[in-house]
Amino acid sequence: MTVTEPAPPRAPVPPLAARARTVGGSPVRDILAVTARPEVINFAGGLPAPELFDREGIAAAFREVLEETPHRALQYSTTEGEPALRAGLAARVTDRGLPTTPDDLLVTTGSQQALSLLATALLEPGDTVLVEDPCYLAALQVFGLAGARVLPVPGDEDGVDPAALEELVLRERPKLLYLVPTFQNPTGRTMPAARRAAVASVAARAGLWVVEDDPYGELRYDGAPVPWIAAHPDAADRVVLLGSLSKVMAPGLRLGWLRAPAELRRACAVAKQAADLHTPTVNQLAAARYLDVLDTHVEKVRAVYGERRDAMLAGLADALPPGSTWNRPEGGMFLWARLPGAYDTTVLLRQVVEQDVAYVPGAPFYAGEPDRSTLRLCFVTQTVEEIGEGLRRLGRGLGGR
Ligand code: PMP
Repeated sequence: MTVTEPAPPRAPVPPLAARARTVGGSPVRDILAVTARPEVINFAGGLPAPELFDREGIAAAFREVLEETPHRALQYSTTEGEPALRAGLAARVTDRGLPTTPDDLLVTTGSQQALSLLATALLEPGDTVLVEDPCYLAALQVFGLAGARVLPVPGDEDGVDPAALEELVLRERPKLLYLVPTFQNPTGRTMPAARRAAVASVAARAGLWVVEDDPYGELRYDGAPVPWIAAHPDAADRVVLLGSLSKVMAPGLRLGWLRAPAELRRACAVAKQAADLHTPTVNQLAAARYLDVLDTHVEKVRAVYGERRDAMLAGLADALPPGSTWNRPEGGMFLWARLPGAYDTTVLLRQVVEQDVAYVPGAPFYAGEPDRSTLRLCFVTQTVEEIGEGLRRLGRGLGGR
């Protein structure tokens, strides 16, 4: 007979940090997980159309870099980013109306990293951050993880209301305002020039950092470009502009950039060093080469995406219940719809997904009181034919015709 020793006492491990416990994943993630099934027409994701990736062009850029400068391409690099990429990006930003030198830019691992770096560099736990309502979901996560108090700024179909913004700034003393002024995620809306000027002037008068996140601006299908808030002289010392190659080249490369005044940029570089030392060298060098042909590629993408937007707009009236409204974005990837008041798009998603089609309910995008009758549709990932079929399924899922 063997004598069993009593198990040694075990204490539980210490708990997760409070910030990790309070910021959860997305509540609709489980339902949307089924959208990975190939038969599902997925209007929920924010995915660029994979068949438009310039596989040949990008492969050629990687090949050249690895053949011509392998020792550099495979080596550690500087935290600020490869000089060739910073120079190429600075030239593009300058061409779009905002004079920029390579030194003004920090290359980031996607613009998502730029948001985290800014949170590290600017936010103490308890600091107030102002956001649009609704707001890009993963920005809400970044600010939540930083322990910030996130407050929505009232607005309308043109974005935040400058008068309401000024009142909130004076009352709540926020550190920063986060905006996606062009083809916003999730709504697709664009803030007109006059309102941008008004936001810049509130930031100047009241003392506020403005983070202008612009991953979609180059995807314009009609209408005229609107100048960046960062280009307003009033606010030049307090607007941080973020850009990304995800939507115009390929998100898998994880390449973005941040343009900020020197002191803040240096603080972000220190935060980046702690986060990942630098963005992958080979990706940066390949992208720097690819910038030579990027405009030609973006032109092709724009033509296709514009047709897809039009196809979705053409089919919505038959897919959504009578009394629904939606906008007509001039670019980007998303449009925003509002069903009649009695509809709750979070509740409805389950039965819609049974029809093998998906959207994202609007509620999680709100920092304030959610409008539960809203939803986001991505119109770029599917072909025109698939969009038509997806909208027929959506109509059935919503219990309509
Ligand atoms: N900002 C906004 C508004 C976005 O929609 C996204 C991607 N969905 C990002 C930032 C992050 O993009 P990335 O990190 O791929 O550059």
